[in-house]
Amino acid sequence: MPARDGVLFGATHDRGDTGSDERANDHARNRATLAAVLPGLAARLDDVPLTGQAGVRASTPDRQPIAGLLAPGLYALTGLGGRGFLFAPLLAEHVAALALGAPSPVPRPAAALVDPMRWTPGPASPM
Ligand SMILES: Cc1cc2nc3c(=O)[nH]c(=O)nc-3n(C[C@H](O)[C@H](O)[C@H](O)COP(=O)(O)OP(=O)(O)OC[C@H]3O[C@@H](n4cnc5c(N)ncnc54)[C@H](O)[C@@H]3O)c2cc1C
Repeated sequence: MPARDGVLFGATHDRGDTGSDERANDHARNRATLAAVLPGLAARLDDVPLTGQAGVRASTPDRQPIAGLLAPGLYALTGLGGRGFLFAPLLAEHVAALALGAPSPVPRPAAALVDPMRWTPGPASPM
């Protein structure tokens, strides 16, 4: 995607690797992936040095985000895994609605899937 200064592309995904160091080998892998889908753009970037950021995708045991009431007066929105850009805006509206006592844009069955208390036996959190 276009960025303020250049383009942004990636990323590698290596299960169990918790390193957050920038690696030349990962840049090479990302270049190869880009070349497979956008060869023209990849060729234009051939001689351009890359900068990168590495991180760990924060995930949960059931791979669903955590969004909702965690404890009285305390709300959480996390565990977005590799889909934060997709889910964060909607779930942010959901958490804000819960905090304000307003109607959530997320239907109840979907809200139950991301309820922070879903692993805790007992009644579900108020949604
Ligand atoms: C390698 C990688 C690739 C990904 N690729 C995709 C993708 O292709 N599509 C997608 O949808 N999602 C992707 N994700 C996931 C996405 O990046 C995250 O889900 C999303 O960024 C989470 O947003 P956030 O606001 O919760 O946290 P973050 O984006 O991590 O933002 C938290 C911010 O809080 C700041 N902060 C932390 N502690 C403090 C403090 N004490 N005081 C002040 N500030 C603080 C941090 O510096 C950071 O700026 C990827 C993640 C990784 C690691």
